[in-house]
Amino acid sequence: MKDIKNVLVVNSGSSSLKFTVYDMAREEKLANGLVERIGSDAANMVYRRGDGPKAEKPVSAKDHAEALQLVCAALTDPRTGVLGSLDEVDAIGHRVLHGAEIFKEATLVTADSLAAMKTLVPFGPLHMPPNIGGIEACQKIFPGVPNVAVFDTAFHQTMPPCAARYAIPDEYRSKYGIRKYGFHGTSHHFVTLAAAEFLGKPADEVNLVTCHLGNGSSLAAIKNGKVFDTTMGLTPLAGVVMGTRSGDLDPAVVLELARKGMSPDEIDALLNKKSGLLGVGGINSGDMRDMVNAAAAGNPDAELALEMWAHRIVLYIGGYFALVGGADAIVFTGGIGENSRPARARILSRLACLGVDFDEEANATRNGPCFLTKPGSKVAAIVMPTDEELMIARETFGLVAK
Ligand code: AMP
Repeated sequence: MKDIKNVLVVNSGSSSLKFTVYDMAREEKLANGLVERIGSDAANMVYRRGDGPKAEKPVSAKDHAEALQLVCAALTDPRTGVLGSLDEVDAIGHRVLHGAEIFKEATLVTADSLAAMKTLVPFGPLHMPPNIGGIEACQKIFPGVPNVAVFDTAFHQTMPPCAARYAIPDEYRSKYGIRKYGFHGTSHHFVTLAAAEFLGKPADEVNLVTCHLGNGSSLAAIKNGKVFDTTMGLTPLAGVVMGTRSGDLDPAVVLELARKGMSPDEIDALLNKKSGLLGVGGINSGDMRDMVNAAAAGNPDAELALEMWAHRIVLYIGGYFALVGGADAIVFTGGIGENSRPARARILSRLACLGVDFDEEANATRNGPCFLTKPGSKVAAIVMPTDEELMIARETFGLVAK
């Protein structure tokens, strides 16, 4: 069998294709970048070799296959590329949104597994077609190179039925697959392993509450290194208050809106795109930086939005802390979790009752990976930068090298 060295990671979204190439001998990032606004006149490519500067240029990419051709040309460019030829790509890992109950872990792409993925399009009508399209484009451009699908839902498949089931008759799960799946699994997985190492505990003994806080946000209760519960559900709309998503609400709200004459698509757009920080904060932005600035300038709606955001997160941290029987650490990751010091402070200042001895100075000055709690704190708080691409590369390497 051929030695596996270089792994290409592909994240093919509705109008973008992100890529990273790793040399897995040292887990070194050789190059990364993206093609964005695929299918439009304004398509653009960003390419970065190693830790060098980003190069950006307008490109023509009418579909994902063309975008991938551009990526391949950049990777093998004699001047700026990192590969002598495409033959140096030994395996390809793909981010795939939804594995439903079929895919409980990263899976080698075969005719059968690809056909099974295609049946899951209704679970992610926006994401699954480009995810699958990215795999098919790679099969054509890299014949004979193994492709691995890494599912955003897979890490959450260890949830017990008491967490994963909705309290409705089981026929709706068996007929329509309606249950909690959870998302951001690759990120929760990465930070679980990294936090265990940071704490000096074996991964299968660590109890955590992992908080992936970004435009989309989810928390996971980690018991002995495995997911015990998570905040997102059948879709990524459930759970905490997000940039533009409502998170949890009484399901009867949806019925009431429908009875008032809104269509399913209108309700979908309201709850996914016009709610959350954007819907409450009154500043026409769902971005945390804008919200923090507006609240600091005295905008009461922005202040309320931030209070609602923190309230829901603290609620889940407390609940998950109890569910896992006491956590070793609360872990912050994602754009907000890694960077927004004021947002983190709003949460951490409320967790003294759990034994979290918040270190405000550390929060104001340190960058992750780091502790946000004082030495001796009964429960640690940690910032752990996530790296979903590296996790996909590791899973791909692990599966293909077997
Ligand atoms: P993500 O979806 O993980 O990319 O996270 C996006 C969110 O992270 C936005 O709400 C940003 O305001 C926030 N964010 C990203 N970088 C920073 C930063 N340097 N300081 C504060 N917030 C940040």
